[in-house]
Amino acid sequence: MKILVPVKRVVDYNVKVRVKSDGTGVDLANVKMSMNPFDEIAVEEAIRLKEKGIATEIVVVSIGVQQSQETLRTALAMGADRAILVVTDVTTESLTVAKILAKVAAEEQPGLIILGKQAIDDDANQTGQMLAALLGWPQGTFASAVVPNGDRVAVTREVDGGLETVDLKLPAVVTTDLRLNEPRYASLPNIMKAKSKPLASKTPADYGVDPTPRLTITKVVEPAKRSAGTKVKTVDELIEKLKNAGAIA
Ligand code: AMP
Repeated sequence: MKILVPVKRVVDYNVKVRVKSDGTGVDLANVKMSMNPFDEIAVEEAIRLKEKGIATEIVVVSIGVQQSQETLRTALAMGADRAILVVTDVTTESLTVAKILAKVAAEEQPGLIILGKQAIDDDANQTGQMLAALLGWPQGTFASAVVPNGDRVAVTREVDGGLETVDLKLPAVVTTDLRLNEPRYASLPNIMKAKSKPLASKTPADYGVDPTPRLTITKVVEPAKRSAGTKVKTVDELIEKLKNAGAIA
């Protein structure tokens, strides 16, 4: 079974995000970019399925600026076999990404597509769901366990009340949650080997998709600054302060 894993290049999760002074978006100048953490989990899961002899080939795909190549190389260094970069300079919206991925899936015919549950830059949490709808495939979102069995896959989902397991017919779309696995680090020899793994370069036009954004971001603002706290000497003083602030009756 072939597994397709879409990976997105996003601002590294350790970076403190700064809003541009004109409020049109997030400042990306000189900011460390990395693979979306949920996508690292997706790549790791695909590699584990290959190690178990269930997957035969792992194809990673990224849609974005030319530098997304680095993200794909990271996935190749972790253990993916081949990469596809769909180059575009415009902001990638979920529907555009889902349409391109649907075309890639039609070409590649994977048995499973494993995406992150959300990209930590726009927190959209919808590409996997849109992709499953466009393909007419079953979906298991927020997965904390993925167990293929013949032509089916059991996906344990993290839901509000606990865990739910759905049994899907392959081919299917799965999105990863945090507890699915702990992604490996790429070793230096594998980073070197990844440089010679195949990476195909495409454009949205190759897939007949117009990437022009349909959404307009009207304003981006920083979260409100927290005001400084004060120290109190006694519990009575604390209660008095809370009463005055209207926090308790
Ligand atoms: P989102 O719906 O934007 O929160 O993204 C959910 C998942 O879709 C991500 O974790 C990725 O697996 C995939 N994805 C979103 N945007 C892209 C992109 N530009 N290139 C590749 N994969 C993407």
